Amino acid sequence: MIPKVSIVGAGISGLTAGICLLKKNIPSVIYERNSVISEVSAGINLSPNATNLLQKIGVLEDLISLSHQPSKVIFRDHKGKKISSYRVNRGDEKYLTLNRKGLVGVLYDKYLEHGGEVVFNNKIEDFKKNDIASKDKSLDTELIFGCDGINSLLRTKKFKSVPPLFSGFIAWRSIKESSCPFEKNNGEDINFYLGPNSHIVTYPIGERTYSATCIIKSSEWTEESWILRGSKGEFQSNFKDWNDDLLTYLSDSELYKWGIFQRPPLESFSNNNLFLLGDSAHAMVPFLGQGSCLAIEDSYCLAEILEKKELTDETKKIFDDLRISRCKNIYRRSFRQAKLNHISNPLLTLLRNKLLSFLPLADFMVRDIHSYDLDAELKKII
Ligand SMILES: Cc1cc2nc3c(=O)[nH]c(=O)nc-3n(C[C@H](O)[C@H](O)[C@H](O)COP(=O)(O)OP(=O)(O)OC[C@H]3O[C@@H](n4cnc5c(N)ncnc54)[C@H](O)[C@@H]3O)c2cc1C
Repeated sequence: MIPKVSIVGAGISGLTAGICLLKKNIPSVIYERNSVISEVSAGINLSPNATNLLQKIGVLEDLISLSHQPSKVIFRDHKGKKISSYRVNRGDEKYLTLNRKGLVGVLYDKYLEHGGEVVFNNKIEDFKKNDIASKDKSLDTELIFGCDGINSLLRTKKFKSVPPLFSGFIAWRSIKESSCPFEKNNGEDINFYLGPNSHIVTYPIGERTYSATCIIKSSEWTEESWILRGSKGEFQSNFKDWNDDLLTYLSDSELYKWGIFQRPPLESFSNNNLFLLGDSAHAMVPFLGQGSCLAIEDSYCLAEILEKKELTDETKKIFDDLRISRCKNIYRRSFRQAKLNHISNPLLTLLRNKLLSFLPLADFMVRDIHSYDLDAELKKII
């Protein structure tokens, strides 16, 4: 029998794992360091590999009501000229753009609906002899899911692992209420602007609310905080010569600066009675929009395995076999995507744009990621 699972962290992976376990009558408790469910306001994409699973655990309908469903992903040069596009939300597949605050809120409500418990103000500060401990007490735990994000203490304590590494990229992010600010004919779609050493992605995340994420190369990130208010002057100098409408809109927004870090996938996602899920296991650069999607896959996958298998070394191997190569592959491809997005040599830019416009390359580069059928993969192994 699977013992009660102690989940560390009430973010996307922890809450999804809690729901998946409770749906299988495996009890769980989540320990969260904050005093409430807290999530920054920022745009997020959820592709069909994640939304299919969210449908199976009964979360999708609630999410759809607060999300936007774009019909295309459009690639443009940094002045706004269209290069190519591909369709999303084809047939039954769901591709959502929304505020991550809304996503975490829906997951939390669903977890409570299933009888889940979150112990707030409970920062896990130590891990000894297979047991986690918060400030004043050791918690009696048999099975632990480390869902404590990129700075995971559990990963640091129980795995040979380097600290998070600065990726060499900074994100400027804005969310603003506005009526269709860019590309009047395609304002409801995802617009990707590719520029020298930088790119910008914009999309609606609900009724009259738009998200923009602007990525630029940077040699260092020295500030201690990961989320800082950015200065307009600095933003404008980072993106000078870009499309005027876009720059005017963004310069008039509240802009936050975010250093992008990564932590490479491990060789195994478990050690004794601890499993790592989500960013604690494989925090990656967000250029394919897959960090949360993979966190959802991890959580669903582990609950399915634990429902069917006793907790043995074989079970841990099954989880690794299903997750490690997929996560490593997407980790590498996410980083490579920046190289393609940020070409600065004019000849190579021309070549990239021609290839993107004549071949269905952009769609091809993500199709296998989005169409991944985790249930089919699980069936092959368990
Ligand atoms: C700029 C940017 C854009 C992104 N866009 C996308 C996107 O479009 N699509 C996508 O799929 N992904 C995207 N991602 C990635 C995504 O944000 C992460 O992969 C996702 O948040 C990981 O979820 P998580 O639950 O593993 O970790 P987190 O969201 O970091 O949650 C960790 C939780 O653990 C708690 N915690 C931490 N330490 C402790 C402790 N010691 N004790 C108790 N609690 C603790 C924290 O308070 C938090 O609640 C983006 C990331 C960035 C940086």
